[in-house]
Amino acid sequence: MRRRRIYEGKGKVLFEGPQPGTLVQYFKDDTSAFNNKKKGIITGKGVLNNRISEYLMVRLGEIGVPTHFVRRLNMREQLIREVEIIPIKVMVRNVAAGSIAKRLGLEEGSQLPRPIIEYNLKNDKLGDPMVSEEHITAFGWAGTQDLDDMVQMALRVNDFLSGLFLGVGLKLIDFKLEFGRLWEDEDMRIVVADEISPDTCRLWDVKTNDCLDKDRFRRDMGKVEEAYQEVARRLGVLPEVSAVEMKGPKLVQ
Ligand code: 5GP
Repeated sequence: MRRRRIYEGKGKVLFEGPQPGTLVQYFKDDTSAFNNKKKGIITGKGVLNNRISEYLMVRLGEIGVPTHFVRRLNMREQLIREVEIIPIKVMVRNVAAGSIAKRLGLEEGSQLPRPIIEYNLKNDKLGDPMVSEEHITAFGWAGTQDLDDMVQMALRVNDFLSGLFLGVGLKLIDFKLEFGRLWEDEDMRIVVADEISPDTCRLWDVKTNDCLDKDRFRRDMGKVEEAYQEVARRLGVLPEVSAVEMKGPKLVQ
């Protein structure tokens, strides 16, 4: 069946869904970092992120955090509710790493005094600049009530996911969330959208502080595929196929 492609991003494609108000989210192996300056392929990443994000979104739904997720369709696709994406990336940080460590001269791995929320404007041309609540409300990217809902949800997601990951020996250092507006007749709700995966979280092994996320690609640390597999394995969602099969069909001559 041919489906209309609605949007293609760096790591995912969105297609028209089977019913109005739904979309199909396809997870690619393509990966990028530093505002698209570094590109590559992480074999099997799409399959694993599809599973990991499904697992985490379902768990969030169970504790009453609304998300766009409906159900996983196959190895690389999930059915989602169509939402109007709010053009703000919400970052929640528990431990200093990445851009905050650099910006504020903090030692990577140092505990932050409390979870810290930061916002980036989703704008590739500008390299997703950091913005403040003042910017967000003044320019109308989100209203005060929307922003309040986003912060409450982000902190709840942080508490819940920190515990969930700790249970499988992983520290949730920081993560990024995206939110969307879901319209139901006249009513609007803000829901968690996009994905939650090792592409969007920093996850360190509790015992060794080994990094098991996209930083392995960003920083050329090697064993990238293995890190995504390890996260999926610990969450109990590693598909029962080898990495070779995850590449898709291969032409045999
Ligand atoms: P940082 O600001 O330190 O680069 O990122 C903070 C956290 O948010 C990290 O877990 C990182 O993976 C995630 N993050 C921030 N911006 C992006 C982005 O544009 N794409 C993805 N996949 N993750 C992001």
